[in-house]
Order: sequence, then C-alpha cells, then structure tokens
Amino acid sequence: MHQRRLLILDDDAVIGDTIRRIAQFAGMEVYYTPSPSEFLTLVSDWQPSHLALGLVMAEMDGVEVMRQLSLRGCGARIIIISGVGTRVRDAAARSAREHGLDIAGVLSKPFSSVALRQLLITAPEHGNPMAATRDATQAASVEIMPAMVEAAIRERHFHLAYQPKVDCYSGMLSGFEALARWHHAEHGVIGPEQFIPVAEANGLIQPLTDVLLDEALTWFQQTGRLLGQRGTILAVNISALSLTDHQLADRLRQKCKGLGIDPARIILEITESSAMYDPVASLELLTRLCTKGFHLSIDDFGTGYSSMLQLVRLPFSEIKIDRSFVITATTSAEALAVVRSIIQLGHSLGIPCTAEGVENQATVRLLRELACDHAQGDFIGQPMVPADLDQWCDENAQRVPANGQR
Ligand code: C2E
Ligand code: MG
Ligand code: MG
Repeated sequence: MHQRRLLILDDDAVIGDTIRRIAQFAGMEVYYTPSPSEFLTLVSDWQPSHLALGLVMAEMDGVEVMRQLSLRGCGARIIIISGVGTRVRDAAARSAREHGLDIAGVLSKPFSSVALRQLLITAPEHGNPMAATRDATQAASVEIMPAMVEAAIRERHFHLAYQPKVDCYSGMLSGFEALARWHHAEHGVIGPEQFIPVAEANGLIQPLTDVLLDEALTWFQQTGRLLGQRGTILAVNISALSLTDHQLADRLRQKCKGLGIDPARIILEITESSAMYDPVASLELLTRLCTKGFHLSIDDFGTGYSSMLQLVRLPFSEIKIDRSFVITATTSAEALAVVRSIIQLGHSLGIPCTAEGVENQATVRLLRELACDHAQGDFIGQPMVPADLDQWCDENAQRVPANGQR
C-alpha cells in the first residue's frame, strides 16, 4: 500500500474536485473517479492508503461499495462523505466497521477543508482490523457438522481463552471472561459463533457446556491461587438452551464445591435475547442460581428487543454493554447516547456496568467520564490462553490490587 495516496469515489464531480484540491494541498497523490467499478479496480491496482467515499450514488450505493471493500480485505483508511442525515451516516459507518473496515470518520456535506485534512493526517489509533486479525478466532469459516462437534467434545479439542476485565477507574484487574475456542487440527482455531449454534441445534450444548465449565473452574482454582485469591471474578457464558436445563444449578454448585470455589466469585453471562427463550423456565433457573450464590450478568445489553423488561424481571447483578455500541462510542453520537443511557439506567437500578469491546485509550477516557464500572477489550488485553495470561498478569502487576476484595 502506498502511503499518502487518496482515491475518491463520488458521482458528484464538484465534490470530487473539491476533495482532490484539499488533499493535493495536503501533499497527497490523488485520483478521482465517479465509477464504482473503476474505483474497486483501482483499490487493488493503485493501492491507495486512503479512500473518500460518497454514500448516495446512482450506480452502486456507498454501503454496497464498502461491503465489496470488506470482501476484498481492504486495509485503507476510509472517509465517508455524505449529505444524508447523521443517523444514516452513523449506521453506514457502524456497518462498515463491523465488516472490519478502517473508518477514519464521517464528514457531512458541506464540509470544511480543515475537517477533511484532519481526517487525512490522523494516523489510525489501532491497525487495520482486517489485516491484524484481533485473535485467532477469525479463521476462515468452515462448514461444521454435528458429528464433528461431538467428536471434538469427546476428544477434548475445545478450550478456553481468558480475557481480562479491569476496574474502569483504577485500571485494576477485576476478573476474566472465559471464551470458548475449538482447536481444529485442519482448520486452526474456530470461534464460538461458528460452533455454539451447531451444538445448540443438535443436542450437544449440555456436554459442551460441561467440559468448558470444568476447564474454566479448574483453571480459575489454580489461577486464584497464583493471584493470591485477590477477589477476581470468573465470567462464563451460558447458552440460551442451558436456561431450560433444570440440573444446571445443582451441577454447577457441585463443581464449585468440589474445587473449593465460592460461587460468589462466578458470574454467569446470559445473552440478553436468550433470556427470553423460555421466560418462565429461565426466571426459575436464574433465581435458583442466585440463591446458590452465583452472580448473573446480562450480556450484549442493548441488542435485544426487550432490554428493559429482562433487566427488571430477572435478577441480574451486572450489565454488559454490547461491544457494537462501545466500539463506536467515540465516533458516533448515537452510540455514545446509548452507552451513556445504559450506564445511567444500570446505576439508577444499582447494577454495575461493564463495557466490552474497548479498543483504544479514547474509549477508556470516555468510559471514565461516564462513570462506567468495568472495561474489557483488546486495548486492555485480548482473549489469551493461560500461558500468555501469566505473562499479561506479570506485566500488568501494578494493575492488580495488592490486597483482597474490591
Ligand atoms: P460475548 O460473551 O459478548 O463475548 C465478547 C466477544 O467480544 C468475544 O468474542 C471477544 O473475543 C470479543 N471481543 C473482546 N474484546 C473485543 C474488542 O476489543 N474488539 C472486538 N471487536 N471484539 C472484542 P468471541 O470470543 O468470538 O465470542 C463470541 C460470543 O460467543 C460471545 O460473545 C458469547 O456469546 C459466545 N461464547 C463464547 N464462549 C462461549 C461459551 O463457552 N459458551 C457459550 N454458550 N457461548 C460462548
Ligand atoms: Mg460474554
Ligand atoms: Mg457480549
């Protein structure tokens, strides 16, 4: 990729020309085209470092162009320029980021030359998420058959990665979230979003949950000893279907008892939409888990259809703000409003909030301003295998509280 090379796509030649002049003045090599197909060809052949892109175009709209860029693994910084309303522009930028594109920012028409120049010169805060896969789970998608999952459970090919979670204000370690990984001999590491649904649909979620819980609790017992029992919490994800498994609460209690783990140090994360799966059964099971001392967290909060209802109805002791809002909170007014309101809602109900998907320092600063309680994300620490976590804990020793419970 050539540094300081800008490729512009907009079917309004006046806009194209204005951008060209501003970028040339800023010392960039620039090429303008009104044609999406020529634009896509030039992205590969001319290798620009920056792209400026209109959203509303007759031949192919900007959202479709960005989807094509994502399919091609484009690593250039993208500036979206458009006359459509803020909410639409923000939605387009969010969608592009979720496809792994590096969006520098969004400019509304008419824009100032200062604002455009600013976006052209600022370096990315983090590398291109397409190029630097955030962890090994973004292996190519594989068609997963139930028999493969069954064999992998039997042969113990599922393992856990642990992602640290810190106190937003002090930066001190407050716990870990266990995230499932499948170490496949042929396909490499496969992420949970690929195999959990297959396990759920084929009656395999209970044996899978059991092996993962055994591994997580055993690791936590050993790590707890290493960390000197500093009051850290272990978070584990529980599938929607497990909320209808009446034995889960007793099995989990037994496992903890056998390992000498206080259930109060375990937090079970339940995805917001999944709590709706069978409202009566889930209320009963979640209440039983609470009476046994476990904590409950409502995961991906803000993405379900009945967030408020779930929060009030079920005995949650933590809200996890969905990463799609957190990732864009520093660049989207809407996402910021959602994050702020979730934190206010949580605090007015006396429920602490964790922001997941914290990817940079600016987000940490923002979360502190908003009085968010905990933070988790790649900027703090990616999900790691236990061997790497030891090193992370050593390097971040000053973040770990010197004594006891928080
Ligand atoms: P989740 O519980 O919401 O987990 C957070 C996801 O965000 C994880 O994806 C994590 O790797 C990712 N993440 C963390 N920090 C960042 C960041 O800074 N940027 C970005 N872009 N992403 C970040 P992962 O590991 O792929 O897991 C996806 C989902 O799979 C989890 O979402 C959870 O719902 C489910 N899952 C994971 N492990 C298990 C499990 O053992 N059992 C069940 N039932 N579900 C699991
Ligand atoms: Mg989770
Ligand atoms: Mg989540």
